[in-house]
Amino acid sequence: MTPRWLELAVPAHAEAVEAVSEILGRFGRGGIAVEVPLEPRGGADHTVKAYLVEDGESFAKVSDIRDALGHLQAFGLGPIGELAVRMVEDKDWLEAWKAEFVPIRIGRFVIRPTWSAARPEDALELVLDPGMAFGTGLHPTTRQCLEALSQVALEGKSVLDVGTGSGILAIAAAKRGASPVVAVDTDPVAVTAARENAERNAVAIPIGEGSAADVPGRFDVVVANLVSPVLQRIAPHLAARLASRGTLLIAGVSVPAERDTREAFAQLRLSAIDRTQSDDWVALALGR
Ligand code: SAH
Repeated sequence: MTPRWLELAVPAHAEAVEAVSEILGRFGRGGIAVEVPLEPRGGADHTVKAYLVEDGESFAKVSDIRDALGHLQAFGLGPIGELAVRMVEDKDWLEAWKAEFVPIRIGRFVIRPTWSAARPEDALELVLDPGMAFGTGLHPTTRQCLEALSQVALEGKSVLDVGTGSGILAIAAAKRGASPVVAVDTDPVAVTAARENAERNAVAIPIGEGSAADVPGRFDVVVANLVSPVLQRIAPHLAARLASRGTLLIAGVSVPAERDTREAFAQLRLSAIDRTQSDDWVALALGR
């Protein structure tokens, strides 16, 4: 018998989308879809959707989700609307859902979901599982890094990606001809996911569990999309991995933390040669 599905839909403010997606993602199957308004109206103008197989546990799950969403309201992330549940009879819902994910173009790259056949000729393709790159949309800091990796010279250059997550930045560097590319992440789950993605994209990237301190050698480009406190803490290790004329790309710096972050790197003789800002996120290219 084909399973029946419950569609869960939660209206949410843009700022709450990521947290709501995380909650629905804990229970849902097959990922999360986010409907973004064509014209932002403010308020709960996004809709986060997920699907559950209807079984003996779905009632309890929906109730747990309601509780979790209730707690989330307390964080003041912006308005979150009522959870709506409806039965989905259409066997083709999965296809319809997949069709919502269109390839995303950023700089020289195009990121496409694993099932999409779209093949733009003039872009370097990054194939990723939707759970990682789609759904909540790419984080602005990831976009900033992809834009930076579109611009810097990478052909034949060595690249280290610290905090690789899905592997997206390391894969992007390899697609631009960087070699060797090495990636690390402290989270073993990320390491597994990044290895799968590297294979899916047919790029050879050693991906290890650990951080900048665990990698030997120096690299022409070091990229680290982390958060300001971590960047400051591991700054000496990032600097130690950088070749004498290398470029360090850091992202995930909040505007209020920019001064202290720059100061931490200035003490290591690294100063900003480029700066971009997206929402409240600052990305810096640093050199000696
Ligand atoms: N590079 C990806 C993922 C960024 S998320 C992108 O741009 O989209 C940040 C990642 O850094 C997470 O996967 C987290 O597990 C990892 N991380 C956090 N602290 C770290 C540290 N000190 N060293 C290495 N990786 C770290």
